[in-house]
Amino acid sequence: MIYFIREGGLDGMIKIGMAADPIRRLASLQTAHHKRLELLAVADGSREREHEEHQRWGLLRVKGEWFRPDEELVKYVANLNWVSGDCGDCGEETMYHLVTDNEVFSHEPLCEKCEEAEARRVELHTAKRPKTRFLVWLKQFKEEDSPMGDLARDMADDRNKPRSFNTLGSLEKYLTNLGACDEALQTAEEAWHEYVGITEYDTARLPLASP
Ligand SMILES: [Zn+2]
Repeated sequence: MIYFIREGGLDGMIKIGMAADPIRRLASLQTAHHKRLELLAVADGSREREHEEHQRWGLLRVKGEWFRPDEELVKYVANLNWVSGDCGDCGEETMYHLVTDNEVFSHEPLCEKCEEAEARRVELHTAKRPKTRFLVWLKQFKEEDSPMGDLARDMADDRNKPRSFNTLGSLEKYLTNLGACDEALQTAEEAWHEYVGITEYDTARLPLASP
């Protein structure tokens, strides 16, 4: 693989080289280097590609494989690191940084929507429940002509239900064991959402913005 490694801060020189494992190469380079090294990007390619890159940026060469961080080179490397892939959840094409914090992204990326859904799922499952028990809270919807109303009535009629549920997980598990359909599970999730009072959640956890 071809790697682009920068030394020092934003205006540090950039090394363009080739290694089977750029992360290992980074580590071994770092032991002999007094400035902090940062892996900026990796790309497929062998000696030929490495040679091409060295030729292309020849005018910026400082010494050996090290190049001056001219604006054009910096832009080129940033674009190289902004790749597209299929969302691991919905399969839709999504853009993401292949390399961040000296690590190469190796699992499937998530699109913004699925990332958001995942963040919401995590938050819903870990949120602290209010003092009022869920089933007590749910009763207020009993007269409503809505999926929430259906859930409230089903729960009220269910003589085998537990006293209440402490987590969304326990509620989902209970409903799944009863053979609840997807819509019912969806409603349960929405109900829990309202119950724990999460109306918004942290957008800081969304994926990276375009460079
Ligand atoms: Zn998706």
